[in-house]
Amino acid sequence: MRLISLELNGFKSFAQKTKIEFMAGMTGIVGPNGSGKSNIIEAIRWVMGEQSAKDLRGGKMADVIFAGSATRKPLNRAEVSITFDNQDHYLASDYTEIKITRRLYRNGDSQYLINGNDCRLKDVLDLFMDSGLGRESFSIISQGRVEAIFNGKPEDRRAVIEEVAGVAKYKKNKDTAEKR
Ligand code: ATP
Ligand code: MG
Repeated sequence: MRLISLELNGFKSFAQKTKIEFMAGMTGIVGPNGSGKSNIIEAIRWVMGEQSAKDLRGGKMADVIFAGSATRKPLNRAEVSITFDNQDHYLASDYTEIKITRRLYRNGDSQYLINGNDCRLKDVLDLFMDSGLGRESFSIISQGRVEAIFNGKPEDRRAVIEEVAGVAKYKKNKDTAEKR
């Protein structure tokens, strides 16, 4: 499993359609302050199902939509797609290549797609659950998060270990079953 590409269109500072292709090996993103490096990481988190506007440095979710600049009008829609090579079926899907797309409109309408087919947020989350890549995983670690883990309560640290160990999925299914 490998990240192939990320496409941004109207997401935060990326007003213009932008495609980033990732080669094998390590990729570094460099640029001046305010050029959009963090926005790229946030686009990855967002397309994988992030639901917290605050964790994306916004007040409300629509803040991820390009808000306009001196030379450009605000846009009505943010769209991000992420494509993974899944030939080893590391992600729980029969597809050998998986493209996930998320769209959000200013009126609040939103949409998730897997390989062009409409799906639910849950389908996206399930794909990443226990993969070590999910919304709650530790594949993306922001500066504040490191401190939060060290200074966190024992229960919170336990949740970290459960996610890493791959038991989080079973706990979630159990919770869902008990609520029914
Ligand atoms: P640093 O090196 O300081 O960490 P960075 O490269 O990580 O910078 P980002 O934080 O990704 O930069 O980008 C910040 C820029 O994105 C700001 O100029 C901000 O105005 C712009 N931005 C954020 N949200 C939007 C939006 N919805 N519409 C337009 N621009 C936005
Ligand atoms: Mg930054």
